[in-house]
Amino acid sequence: MLPSQGERTAWPRPTSLGTEGAVPRRLHAYTNAIIIVGIAATVWSLWSLLTKPTNWLGLLLFVLVAALAELTGTDLLPGSPATVSFSSAIYFASLLVFGPFGATLTAVSSGLAATLVTIIRTEGPTRTPVIQRALFNMSVYGLSCLAGGVVYRVTGGTVGDMSSARILLPAILASITLDTLNALLIVLTVSLQTAQSAFSVWLQNFAWAAPINIVAIAVGGGALAFGYARLGMLGLGIFLLPILTTSISFQRYVGRTQDQMRRLEDIIAERTAQLRAANEELTRLDQHKTQFYSIINHEMRTPLTSVMGYCDLLRASGGLTDRQLGHVQVLKSNAQRLLDLVNNLLDISRIEAGRMTVSQEPADLSESIADALSVVQPLAAQKRLDIRLDLPSDLPPAHADKKRLSQVLINLLSNAIKYTPEGGQVTVRSALDQDGSMLLTSVADTGIGIPQDRLSRIFDRFSREESEQTRGTVGTGLGLTITKGLVEAHGGRIWVQSQEGAGSTFFFTLPAYRPDR
Ligand code: ADP
Repeated sequence: MLPSQGERTAWPRPTSLGTEGAVPRRLHAYTNAIIIVGIAATVWSLWSLLTKPTNWLGLLLFVLVAALAELTGTDLLPGSPATVSFSSAIYFASLLVFGPFGATLTAVSSGLAATLVTIIRTEGPTRTPVIQRALFNMSVYGLSCLAGGVVYRVTGGTVGDMSSARILLPAILASITLDTLNALLIVLTVSLQTAQSAFSVWLQNFAWAAPINIVAIAVGGGALAFGYARLGMLGLGIFLLPILTTSISFQRYVGRTQDQMRRLEDIIAERTAQLRAANEELTRLDQHKTQFYSIINHEMRTPLTSVMGYCDLLRASGGLTDRQLGHVQVLKSNAQRLLDLVNNLLDISRIEAGRMTVSQEPADLSESIADALSVVQPLAAQKRLDIRLDLPSDLPPAHADKKRLSQVLINLLSNAIKYTPEGGQVTVRSALDQDGSMLLTSVADTGIGIPQDRLSRIFDRFSREESEQTRGTVGTGLGLTITKGLVEAHGGRIWVQSQEGAGSTFFFTLPAYRPDR
């Protein structure tokens, strides 16, 4: 308990900000101004106390206890400007016993004593920021105590007399003033340092602790002042003891929280390092895979093209029997299948490496659909499928790569035909969307459909269903991945709707060609 705001300062710490040059000039001007006003308030307080009878011994006792409290303060959270000590309660007790000037002197002198001890313990180069920070803190506390004391007096509080319940309201108002002014002066440093608004700094870092602080200052300080007023030093000691033990337990709790946070940070750092290593390994493997693809592709494409060329030459040379011509045909169609696979692999590696480029030009969709249909027609005829077209006569051209557009259409049409049983129907539709920027094309079939649990993975590579229905169809599970990559390379989108046993419809969009764009 008894959190203190005295050290709750955003004064740049040497470790957190690095160079002094990084601290905005306005922050220096502000902190220097506070230090000057703080010194003036201290001199004024000292002068006022010297000119009237003062219990110097009692005041010294309060200063010593407050210095001890400051020295035993601990950071509330690592890296946070909040610390926990019970010095505020002692300043407040001093306010009730000695008045505003006594409280100011208690805050400043105890701060000074604690700073001297800290400086002795601190290494050479880090001393300057420590001194500056301490001077600022002392000033903030001195000014807050002075303001709290003035509010206490103005609202009818009696100094040194704890016997009347009438001091309750002034005491509460004084503790609110002390805590609020303290927080405000510190909030401004954070705000100047981070360029955040003062209100949001207060809300994020200070608002949560304000009620605890005010209660702790009022109750703890009130008890100390009461004990001292009634029993002198003994009373101070008696009431200090529970406050001290509460503060120690709270600090222990904070210490344990900090340990846990440090352990968590260690675990996070370790996991991050593991993930980074795994990621590097994956990137390396991926590079190998891409390299592998491109070597295999280039080494296989040339010989395969040559095999197919020689097949054509053999057929053209004449003198082959029908049986031999049949063999040459099988040879060529197998070489073609291999070449298609190699081309697909090359496309996949381009898409995955983000290197799929398309040259966009005006492309007549109706023409591309007719071309694609002529390629897949033999298979459709073999299965006696009914192929229907629904294309408006005023369909504008797509802004697309003609070769790649044909590839998309052939992939979708050959799938529709492949996965539709004999006598089924395949329908191709195309239309301009409402705002006239995209062309929407669909390829619908009345085929086997796609199970719901596979729909989300249908565009993944090698996503091929091995089932009763697909038995007898050839495929690699790469076609849709490439189709999606091609559509997206044009700036379009592709998706599917399907119902098992009823059929599937693949939709894709492509930008419409607009001469004015
Ligand atoms: P494949 O070479 O196997 O046809 P695709 O990537 O073109 O590879 O298709 C992947 C899988 O998606 C196919 O194996 C099939 O299971 C399913 N599929 C694609 N199109 C259709 C369709 N029109 N009807 C039913 N299933 C389809």
